[in-house]
Parts: sequence; structure tokens; C-alpha cells
Amino acid sequence: LEEQYRHAQKMEAVGRLAGGIAHDFNNLLTVIGGYSNLLLEDLPHDNQYRPAIEEIREAGERATNLTRQLLAFSRKQVLQPAVLDLNDVVTQTGRMLQRLIGEDISISLILDPAAGCVKADPGQLEQVLMNLAVNARDAMPQGGRLTIETVAVETGRHGSSSPPGAPRGRCVRLAVTDNGSGMTDEVKNRIFEPFFTTKGIGKGTGLGLAMVFGFVTQSGGHICTSSTIGSGTTFTILLPVVDEMSSPPRPGDAHLTPRAQ
Ligand code: ADP
Repeated sequence: LEEQYRHAQKMEAVGRLAGGIAHDFNNLLTVIGGYSNLLLEDLPHDNQYRPAIEEIREAGERATNLTRQLLAFSRKQVLQPAVLDLNDVVTQTGRMLQRLIGEDISISLILDPAAGCVKADPGQLEQVLMNLAVNARDAMPQGGRLTIETVAVETGRHGSSSPPGAPRGRCVRLAVTDNGSGMTDEVKNRIFEPFFTTKGIGKGTGLGLAMVFGFVTQSGGHICTSSTIGSGTTFTILLPVVDEMSSPPRPGDAHLTPRAQ
């Protein structure tokens, strides 16, 4: 728990810093984008500098995308937790995921009808599934299989072992499995750190799993990873189950996460 607290504090500091930098960067990138467009419009088609200016514009666009992700990460979102049927969210998001990760990867949903409801922000939950799916895609460049599974579980009973820090009682286990590259223990130990990425500059931000970790912690859940080089990775998220009839969220229920601006 102390580790989770330290992680949350670190995330908040990083979020503030990154948000401030991203905001200023965005303004500068607008200048770069604006002037390269202007030049490309005005220069004759055979001008020798056109290819170079096109590259400047493309690099600017990539940088804009990165700063947009940084801003989204650091935004002080007012979370609106609601009581959600987890299987419904997975089914709805599943369709979008297929478009997101392409046809080379087949998605299987294995849904336990007894999975139940969780209390979480629906937008965030969707983001979690998207982040895990995009990582799975990147780990399976030749295609493969992505499995999303829900299982109703009861933790901390009848001697059943539950990991330290995991919620107790009625829970739902959400497991996302790929049969991709897998990762080494060195990588696995660092994946939830903000800005840790193995994807190279301009490709990864290292914020996807930090966001996933933040979501799980805020939702009173627990996440763990198992991975084998060459055969794939599973992310297992344990979330406490709530009663379907629980009262709708009140404005006071909203949590704040850091945002710069
Ligand atoms: P990013 O995707 O921008 O690199 P993430 O925080 O989402 O940032 O992931 C951090 C790192 O964790 C990735 O760069 C990758 O090395 C590793 N990783 C995440 N998911 C997987 C996966 N399913 N298979 C293999 N490696 C993964």
C-alpha cells in the first residue's frame, strides 16, 4: 500500500510537470505547424526545399500527438464513477478495439455471466482496455490473439490466497492476454513507471500503463502481470464488485487527479 501511495504521489508530480511542459510545447508546435503549412502552400511544386519542409511538418505533427497524450494524462479529470456492468463495457469496447488494433489480431471475449458490476469511471475503464490492447498489438507485430476474460471471484476466503494489497471479498478478475513477444523481468519490473517505454522516441510515451495503474488504484483494485518471453503476457486486474442497486454517484464522489493549465 505504501508503494501504491508513493507511486500515486510520483504520478501527481510527474503529471503536473508534464502538463505544464506539454502546454507550452503545444503553443510552440502551433507556430512550427502554421509556418510549414504556409511555406508548403506558397512554394512552387518543384522547389528544392519542399521535401525538407514536409518532414518538418510531419515531425511537428508527431510531436503534437505526443503532447496531446501528455496533456490528457496530466489533465485534472473529474472522475465520474458509476456502477457499470463489466461485461457490457467489455463487449462494447471490444468492437472498437478490433478497429483500433487491426484485423491481424483476433479478439476473443470470455465473459462470466456472474462477473457483476464495478464502480468506476466508464471513460477511464475504456481507456484501460484500449491501452492494454494497443500494447498487446505492439507485442504481436505479425498478428496473434488477444483474449479478454472476466471471472467472478471471491478473495480472502477458505484459505484462498490473494496478493497483498488486493481487494477482499466479492471481486471480478479482468484478464487481458496476448500471445506476443512477452517481456524480461527487468522490463516487467518497470512497466508501471511513468515514461518507461521500450518503444523508442516518438513511438511510445510510457504513460499507458501508468494510467492503467492509476485507474486500478483509484478504483480500489489491484493489478499484476505475468509474462513469458516468446509466449505472451497477461495483465490481471482485480476489482471489487458492487451491488447493482447501489446509489448513483453524487457530485462529492468525484476524485481529482492533477491537471496543469
Ligand atoms: P508505451 O506503450 O508508450 O511504451 P506503456 O506504459 O503502455 O507505454 O508500456 C510500457 C512498456 O511496457 C512498453 O514499452 C513495453 O515494453 C512493455 N509492455 C507493455 N505491455 C506489453 C505487452 N502486452 N507485451 C510486451 N511488453 C509490454
